[in-house]
Amino acid sequence: MAKAIKKGLLCPSFVRENWLLLSTVAAVVAGVAALDSSISGKIGLRAVVYYFSTTVIAVILGIILVVTFKPGVTQSASEIDRTGSSPEVNTVDALLDLIRNMFPENLVQACFQQYKTKREKVKTKTAVDKKSSIFPEELTTMANPARASENKTQEYKIVGMYSNGVNVLGLIVFCLVFGVVIGKMGEKGQVLMDFFNALNEATMRIVQIIMWYMPIGIVFLIAGKIIQVENWDIFRKLGLYMATVISGLVIHSSIVLPLIYFVIVRKNPFWFAMGMAQALLTALMTSSSSATLPVTFRCAEENNLIDKRITRFVLPVGATINMDGTALYEAVAAIFIAQLNDLKLDVGQIITISVTATAASIGAAGVPQAGLVTMVIVLSAIGLPAEDVTLIIAVDWLLDRFRTTVNVLGDAFGTGVVEKLSKKELEQMDVTSEVNIVNPF
Ligand code: ASP
Repeated sequence: MAKAIKKGLLCPSFVRENWLLLSTVAAVVAGVAALDSSISGKIGLRAVVYYFSTTVIAVILGIILVVTFKPGVTQSASEIDRTGSSPEVNTVDALLDLIRNMFPENLVQACFQQYKTKREKVKTKTAVDKKSSIFPEELTTMANPARASENKTQEYKIVGMYSNGVNVLGLIVFCLVFGVVIGKMGEKGQVLMDFFNALNEATMRIVQIIMWYMPIGIVFLIAGKIIQVENWDIFRKLGLYMATVISGLVIHSSIVLPLIYFVIVRKNPFWFAMGMAQALLTALMTSSSSATLPVTFRCAEENNLIDKRITRFVLPVGATINMDGTALYEAVAAIFIAQLNDLKLDVGQIITISVTATAASIGAAGVPQAGLVTMVIVLSAIGLPAEDVTLIIAVDWLLDRFRTTVNVLGDAFGTGVVEKLSKKELEQMDVTSEVNIVNPF
């Protein structure tokens, strides 16, 4: 039994299989396609630009914090590189890999492999030719120690290679482009839109069924991890990880978002946040942006007096695609798991995490723990086993509540910002026209 637990045989299959990618593909294509048909004009575009920018800021903030605090690093392990990629791969290689992965030559191949540059040592050569040098090598080294390392220049040949693991980045870029094109096709694209919407719904239903089984699975998952724990340091690390996520969420919600609101709207952001208090509390209690939506509408319209033509359009879109808290959490969690695995991340991998965490937050539904599910794509993108998500499951119920609250606050501030920027369009519209905007999602 202990062996079975150790091997993770009793893990819920959703964290062990790549099929979840299908769900994300459907969610991203359907989301982006629907977005295109709903962002009629400048108001929609402003909302999307606001959502996208704040999400990217949240991801960057998360990355800065987790790289600074290093919650998953063990002192002695920080020196180790267990990535399998040679340490000689430099930043340029990493960035080139990133671009190659973004635009895969072959999409089908991308479903199985991603590109990784490896360098192979060709020979060791001495920069100062011994014969032509009038000083013996030892003397040169003694006179100028810096020359010692200079002398031993090694030559490497780049051996381009494909590593196992899905090229999530390539798939996401494809889905984004595909979604935009479908959205622009109008009626002709409707069949595909319906198809991806249905696929999205079907996969989400499966996720919901799995969620019922989750409590049993989690017991085994955690038991498996505890059996493997030789060092109870993991609990200190989990505590630090939680502190990192929570401080990121606090900074984003009490400094970044209010500052953006203040700079654009020129009103007190804290009064605005107070007006949203009931919605924030509901988000904290339910862990669901979608379930909170009716309260968010009421607070924005009745307490903060935001124009209904803005709220009815901006909030439903926001509840689905704008998840600053989720994006921040996904970035921190992925890097934390990488640190726990002693994986040394290069620039390309960090950028990959930023892109996939943003996409994963767009793809995540506004329901409890959806972010944990889409987290799998961020982990796969950097070649980490999907089941490592189990390392953070135990504390996710709490973090989910906080990140959902930040998601809702981000949507709410968005209504204020978009309203302010769209004053002209709103005045031009027929003021008496009935609000008739349906949630495109
Ligand atoms: N529970 C979050 C929300 O509804 C999504 C997530 O799991 O991050 O906004």
